Amino acid sequence: MVQKRTIAVVNCGSSSVKLDVFFLPSEDNPLSVLVERVGTAEARLVQKRASAGGEPEQREEHAANAPDSASAVALALDELTRAGFVPDAVGHRVVHGGERFAEAALIDDAVVAAIDACVPLAPLHNPANLAGLAVARARLPNVPHVAVFDTAFHQTLGPEAFLYAIPRALHEQHGIRRYGFHGTSHGYVAERAARFFGRDPTTLNLVTLHLGNGCSACAISRGRSVDTSMGMTPLEGLMMGTRSGDVDPAVVLRLARMHGIDGAERLLLKESGLLGVSRTSHDMRDLEQAAAEGNADADLAVRIFARRVAKVVGSYAVLLGDIDAVIFTGGIGENSRRVRREVCQGLRVLGALLDDRKNAGDLVGERDLASSDSRVRILVIPTDEERAIAQETARLARV
Ligand code: ADP
Repeated sequence: MVQKRTIAVVNCGSSSVKLDVFFLPSEDNPLSVLVERVGTAEARLVQKRASAGGEPEQREEHAANAPDSASAVALALDELTRAGFVPDAVGHRVVHGGERFAEAALIDDAVVAAIDACVPLAPLHNPANLAGLAVARARLPNVPHVAVFDTAFHQTLGPEAFLYAIPRALHEQHGIRRYGFHGTSHGYVAERAARFFGRDPTTLNLVTLHLGNGCSACAISRGRSVDTSMGMTPLEGLMMGTRSGDVDPAVVLRLARMHGIDGAERLLLKESGLLGVSRTSHDMRDLEQAAAEGNADADLAVRIFARRVAKVVGSYAVLLGDIDAVIFTGGIGENSRRVRREVCQGLRVLGALLDDRKNAGDLVGERDLASSDSRVRILVIPTDEERAIAQETARLARV
């Protein structure tokens, strides 16, 4: 019999911290702790515990004293101990692994130093990740810790995909290039899609669309990422909840002249995307509702969003030559019938034909929404980055 292992997964961001416990190989998720609004007086801790024997899960919520990421991770680890879980290994989500990490890594001091060296590439994310890592290693010194990078899956990109058309020295001296993100998600849904088809991932050409608050697309040729829409940072590419995605670089310069660097950054990161265009909300569900009630700005924001996704899929079809499936994931990709319909309207030219009845249906979980005569399959595959990190952690830690 395969032995049951307990894996803790820590996702330590700057404004929220998540800790999940998984049992492997069953992949049951008996505990999930979220500390949100970290760094504010309104910080809260939400804990969900799945009861044994199919009883409903228990949910607890209370105010938390979490002035920073480190204290939030400490609170989450307190809950782990209180619930009596003793992990065999701990997996950590790390946003930026630069060019150093093409795979997850067993954490030691050298790996920590290498993650630290990537801070200039991800000044908001990597410091929070490092803070979480330090607290968890100090608390659980006798178990292996593994770093799983958002960028690692895309380290297979060739120079024609990762170089910007700027002086080469900027890449060589400062690491300025495309890295890509959401790699754990793109890799996970690609793997699930291969299983769905009963095929080996190395026999498929896929375009994966991770559409959540952050959005990115990935062209996957025979299991390897060959292009992706996010760049040096998660600001490039598709339109997102509050991030602009692609703009003329001269727009950035103009904004910086008008509002200073910090002002330009705030505009492009926090006030653009769906929020900026709709003037209403960053949330797709709200916008679809508003559009249905006649709000023209909300409607326009959704149309621009879908159009840009379709454009990127078209460009990836050119790169891949031939696509077996387009995969929708993330909160929007998994749930928005309207966005899927509008994206797929643009994909008919590729031979991807959506079955409108299936798309409008209430099915959840992994499903194929293409009509029977479609040359390209159109899948919805719910992503689960925490689960993927748990699997990767167990593999690397050999527990
Ligand atoms: P994150 O990137 O923060 O993990 P999610 O993957 O949860 O975010 O995606 C959040 C987005 O998914 C929001 O824009 C939300 O409105 C959208 N979403 C969730 N459910 C639906 C739905 N039923 N219809 C349309 N959009 C939805």
